[in-house]
Amino acid sequence: MKRLATALILAGLFLAMSVSADEGMYPISEIMKLNLRSKGLEIDPAEIFATDKSLIFAIVSVGATGSFVSAEGLFITNHHVAFGAVQAASTKENDYIRDGFLARTRAEEIQAKGMTARITESFQDVSAEVLSAVKPEMDYAARTKAIERRTKEIVARTEKEKPGKRAEVAEMFAGKTYILFIYTYLKDIRLVYVPPRSIGEFGGEEDNWMWPRHTGDFSFLRAYVAPDGSPADYSAKNVPFRPKRFLRVAARGVSEGDFIFLLGYPGRTFRHSTASYLAFEEEVRMPYVADWYAWQIGLMEKMGAEDRGVALLHAARIKGLANTMKNFRGKLKGMKRLGLVERRREEEKALQGFIEADEKRKSQNGTILNDIAAVYDEMRAAFDYETVLDYLRGSVNLVGFAFTVYEAALERRKPDLEREPAYMDRNFPQTKQRLLLSLRNFYEPTDKALFKELLLRASRLKEPDRIKAVDELFQGDLGEGDIDAYLNKAYETSRMNDAKFVEELLGKTPEQMAALQDPFLDLARALYPAVLEVREKQKARRGALDPLYARLSDIKELYLGKSFIPDANNTLRLTYGRIKGYEPADAVYYGPFTTLRGVLEKTTGREPFDTPAALFELSRARDFGAFEHPQLHDVPVCILYDTDTTGGNSGSPVINARGELVGVNFDRTYEATINDYAWSEEYSRSIAVDIRYVLWVTQKFAGAGFLLKEMGL
Ligand code: ASP
Repeated sequence: MKRLATALILAGLFLAMSVSADEGMYPISEIMKLNLRSKGLEIDPAEIFATDKSLIFAIVSVGATGSFVSAEGLFITNHHVAFGAVQAASTKENDYIRDGFLARTRAEEIQAKGMTARITESFQDVSAEVLSAVKPEMDYAARTKAIERRTKEIVARTEKEKPGKRAEVAEMFAGKTYILFIYTYLKDIRLVYVPPRSIGEFGGEEDNWMWPRHTGDFSFLRAYVAPDGSPADYSAKNVPFRPKRFLRVAARGVSEGDFIFLLGYPGRTFRHSTASYLAFEEEVRMPYVADWYAWQIGLMEKMGAEDRGVALLHAARIKGLANTMKNFRGKLKGMKRLGLVERRREEEKALQGFIEADEKRKSQNGTILNDIAAVYDEMRAAFDYETVLDYLRGSVNLVGFAFTVYEAALERRKPDLEREPAYMDRNFPQTKQRLLLSLRNFYEPTDKALFKELLLRASRLKEPDRIKAVDELFQGDLGEGDIDAYLNKAYETSRMNDAKFVEELLGKTPEQMAALQDPFLDLARALYPAVLEVREKQKARRGALDPLYARLSDIKELYLGKSFIPDANNTLRLTYGRIKGYEPADAVYYGPFTTLRGVLEKTTGREPFDTPAALFELSRARDFGAFEHPQLHDVPVCILYDTDTTGGNSGSPVINARGELVGVNFDRTYEATINDYAWSEEYSRSIAVDIRYVLWVTQKFAGAGFLLKEMGL
């Protein structure tokens, strides 16, 4: 009896934690169950997703998220989402990162290189078809491959049936639920207005992931299509895309306590992962990655310190690394503060008790948590080796380029469906474009230093986890002097930094590449077997974990008597909440609005607090136009609210109860970096730039009133 009571109390605890923690990023198929009217929504929920002109047709996936704000393909997203494209368009002479960019006419809009936009058109459950590819006799790696293959077949069939559309199969619950999404896929995206970095990234890394915040993190872009309306690559003949729906902009903004919701493409969360996974993240992966990123940032900042041209080459890379690094540090701190691993262990103990209380459950699932933990143990053991091998290709440009062209040559001669995804016909143009774009940012001294550091790390790996190709290259003499000598020669003789050469390589066979005797191509060939071996192991781990997690989710649902919302996976989701402050620490309360006053207070004149003089003057003159908050008597700059968001929600429209745009989401508070593992009403807050600041900057500072007019204001 006592045991039962304890079990019930623990179950209750688990439930209480899970209700808030599991609720949040709702797939479109779940919206109807939410009763959003009772939460504060004033429009018919069907208007969000169930009509021909639903709000979801105004939402684009651009890596992160954006939303259409005019009938002429104009969309808004974050400054940091467009940053890579702004960098690609910038030169020392036309420094759009520093000065911003404004197209006064359509003809002046410039290509946002590397950007594409997807709009979710429809979705369909294909779980049965996907899982029917799995046969009982398959081993773990074969299982993963069978699912990958079936998924590719479904995608190929769908794209053939619907020319011009893009199809993706998303795994909603590991090993259990698979949804086929069909997207309109736009490939000609152009920059319209991007504020200078001193507005768009005001506060820089210092303020990133922080509140109070004063960043004008927005930009306007436009999607183009062929004259017949079909998606097309960039061409001067293209015309603006006409979306089925665009968001009306509510220039009057929001007030504290208002109901709001976000639509967007959150990347990944791990709410259903076990304590063993969280411990791996906390103890192994995140500290390593954060340190490695810090090392790289230090290096690149040093390289760019004296030369603006070099700094520009590194700008987007530093920004991305710094963003993740601080996020991981926030997460690590949050995990400790909340004792997250321990908490999840307690939950799992209770679940284990429930499993063992019934003979049948015990025989079916008695070892499930241990079985999952065993896979993560294997990942821990292999971590250093696999990580150095991975970063050799991921962090060192010339190794990465050489590996891509070499692998492309091998993969491209296989039938399309048997290739690694990056080399399939549907993805290859983008793979190529990405490669050529990163080539433009190549800077030899940085690349060489990164390579050297990784070789030193490789030299410290313990047997048997040595990178054979590297050992053979140095024949055991991996001292600093040997490394320097190798690097000097390799960079001197290689042509992998020459765009023309790389483009030519993309049409060559592996045999032709071998004849060229380029040191990086030779290294790529030598590394290839090890990379394949790791890939195979990763597929086996996935093949082991997926069915285990599928069973774990079933038994948890049985135990808690409720069903779950799937973790974020880059598919369209809705989250709702209210404009609301919070208490980050004892005796500290944060209000939900910041204002121009705060921008002035933070301004030092030095990066990253170097407000442009014209903006400073406009705010000092209190020239607020129509954008003054009625109670704050100032222009609101950023807003805070308690929705459930993660990376990928950047650029998500913050929408009011009437379905109008009131802000553009761009970040979370430091405490909320932990959202990916555990969301809580207490500390999870997301941050948007207030639409009034967007409009004020666009009209008063940039003098682009014509964009407000285009938005119907
Ligand atoms: N800043 C994030 C992003 O880049 C948004 C977030 O993680 O909340 O997607």
